[in-house]
Amino acid sequence: MLGPELTFLDRDHVWYEGKKLLYLAGIDYHRMSNDPQVVRAATEAADKYGLSATGSRATTGNHSLYIELERSVSDFFGTQGAIVSPSGYLSNTILLQAIADDFDAFFIDEKSHSSLADAAKQFAKPTYSFHHLDSQDLAKQLARNLIPNAKPLVLTDGVFPSRGEIAPLMEYANVLNAFNGKILVDDAHAIAVIGQNGRGTWEDQHVSPEIVYQTGTLSKGFGVGGGIVAANSRTIEKVHRHSLAFVGSTGLALPIAAAALQSVSHLAQNKHLITDLQKRTLALKQRFKKIGFSMPMTAAPIFSITLEDSEKNQRLSHRLIENGVYPPYINYPGAPQGGHFRFILTSSTTHDQEDRLLETIESAL
Ligand code: PMP
Repeated sequence: MLGPELTFLDRDHVWYEGKKLLYLAGIDYHRMSNDPQVVRAATEAADKYGLSATGSRATTGNHSLYIELERSVSDFFGTQGAIVSPSGYLSNTILLQAIADDFDAFFIDEKSHSSLADAAKQFAKPTYSFHHLDSQDLAKQLARNLIPNAKPLVLTDGVFPSRGEIAPLMEYANVLNAFNGKILVDDAHAIAVIGQNGRGTWEDQHVSPEIVYQTGTLSKGFGVGGGIVAANSRTIEKVHRHSLAFVGSTGLALPIAAAALQSVSHLAQNKHLITDLQKRTLALKQRFKKIGFSMPMTAAPIFSITLEDSEKNQRLSHRLIENGVYPPYINYPGAPQGGHFRFILTSSTTHDQEDRLLETIESAL
């Protein structure tokens, strides 16, 4: 099912049901998709290079812009290398095609994103799901299912997009110690958002990058588009050699690659945008808590609220529209019972906009 059709008026407003509404949604955590320098980088690249590299990375399309972008992504993450691909969804397949042979079984959080679950299905590996965010259940599943000396790979989202929960990677790492296992974390919602330098959930929890494989996207924190794998040289080499999904795809549209390059360097030079958003997120979550909504107290700027009843949610939806706020109502796999409203705080949301949102919700209760 698709969401409602929206006409965007500017970065903060949409036209919906005959009204101009404030849009506190959209997974563009720093509103980089409208940043003038990012947009200019795209238009300049279109003028200079055209739109497409017109060939896969393995043939004639290994454009120098991709190499430059991969260097800038690896600098951002402090890794030896990086892979940039056409989408975040694809990046999980790309990475697994390179590393799956190093593991004997997959253990996946039951609420992981479909891109991880789809990627895992492509391999003839025993796959077990464990309870959402539950390291004890993971330990149980490993003990029950793993044959001696077999190597497990745990697959999980870093930040879960529905409610902004964060996977307890350190607990998983401790459980995996005895099994020589590793974790593949899809940090699509954590990149440029979570951790001191925006490197993601492993950085925030001080988990050694040695035991984590990380994928992500350029479409959310960086606001542009494209998939990421940030890794050591050995893994990058394996992707180049074994990942047909990577080498067989034409890379990102060139204006998008140039825009992403600008966005990554802007956030690398303005880390305060990341840490400020974390602080504001925690403060706003406290305010939601005060008016009676429970939500995971994480620094992920995702605010999921529900009145746990679709009729009541519908009334809240009307009240939001009356007060000029777009109701980002979602009833999608992973959403709480009765659907929920998923508001997003961004670096460009003003304090007045935050107040307006809270006052509207409070008045509707
Ligand atoms: N992983 C997660 C956890 C996501 O939420 C998304 C986007 N919804 C993706 C992967 C896919 O990223 P992209 O939109 O860049 O393909």
